[in-house]
Amino acid sequence: MSNFIATPTRTKSILNKYRFAFKKSLGQNFLVDVNILENIIRHAGINKETGVIEIGPGIGALTEQLAIHANKVVAFEIDQRLFPILNDTLAGYDNVSLIHQDILKADVVQAIEEHFGSNHPIHVVANLPYYITTPILMKLVRDKLPVESITVMIQKEVADRMAAKPNTKNYGSLTIALQYYTTAEVVMTVPKTVFMPQPNVDSAILKLTMRETPPVGVDDEEFFFRIVKASFAQRRKTLLNNLKSFLQDAYDKELILDLLDKANIDGKRRGESLSMDEFARLANTFWRARN
Ligand code: SAM
Repeated sequence: MSNFIATPTRTKSILNKYRFAFKKSLGQNFLVDVNILENIIRHAGINKETGVIEIGPGIGALTEQLAIHANKVVAFEIDQRLFPILNDTLAGYDNVSLIHQDILKADVVQAIEEHFGSNHPIHVVANLPYYITTPILMKLVRDKLPVESITVMIQKEVADRMAAKPNTKNYGSLTIALQYYTTAEVVMTVPKTVFMPQPNVDSAILKLTMRETPPVGVDDEEFFFRIVKASFAQRRKTLLNNLKSFLQDAYDKELILDLLDKANIDGKRRGESLSMDEFARLANTFWRARN
C-alpha cells in the first residue's frame, strides 16, 4: 500500500492529527484517489521538464503527485490553516513553493517570472474550489499567462458548458468566452466518491489548451463579447429579438435588420446556432456601422 496523501486512510490521519475542519465556503473537497490524480497529470502532459502552477493545494494530495512528476510546483492557497499541514506533508519534496494568496488577487504572471524564468514549459493544474471555478478560469485566460495549458477538476456541468459545440443546450456565452482563448476538452468524468467530503455535484477533468492567437478576428473584443452575451440573453428568443433589446439605444430595428442581412445571418436563428466565426462577423458588422 502506498503512503501517498491521496488515500482515505492517510488523509483521515492528517485531518485528525491537525484537527482540521473543512470550510465549505472555501470549496474544500480533497482528493483521495491516486489513480484520478495520475489521470489529471497524464492529460496535463506533465513531465520532469515542466513547471506547474497549482491552485488550492489543500493538504497536498495533488501537489505531492505533481512534485513527483514535474520539475517544479508553485501552489497558491488562501487558507492559512493549511500551511503548517502542507509544510509537514510535503516536507520530503524540495521542488514545491507555497504562496499564501487568493488566486483571484494574485499576480500569476509575475509569480511565473519569479519562480520559473523563461526556461520551462508551464502548465496550470488544479482541483479547483467549485464556488469560484468560472472567475478563476476567466482570470487565467484573460491574463494571457505564459502557460501551455490549464487542466482542472471542476463541476461536470460547467466543464460541459465550457467545451460545448454549437447547436447544443450547453453552448452559450461561457463557451465562446473560453474557446476564444483556448481549445477546450472534457477528458474524463469523475465520480463523487474520490473526494473527501463528497461534493453534491458530479465532476469532470477539463483541459484547456491555450491558443497562440484567437480563432477569429474581431475589431473590438469587448463589443464582441457583449454581442455574444446579448445573443444568449434569452435562449428561446430569436437573434433579432435579443439584439433589439440589447441594441435599441444605438440601432433602430431597420438598421438591425439591414446589418444582419449584411452579415449574412438570418435574424430568425437562435444564438445557440451561431459559430464563433458568425459571432465575429456579426459583431464586426455592427461595430463598423457605428465606428
Ligand atoms: N488540491 C487539493 C486536493 O485536490 O485535494 C484541494 C482541492 S479543494 C477542491 C480547493 C482548495 O482551494 C482548498 O484547499 C481551498 O482552501 C483552496 N481555495 C479556495 N479558494 C481559494 C482562492 N480564492 N485562492 C486560492 N486557493 C483557494
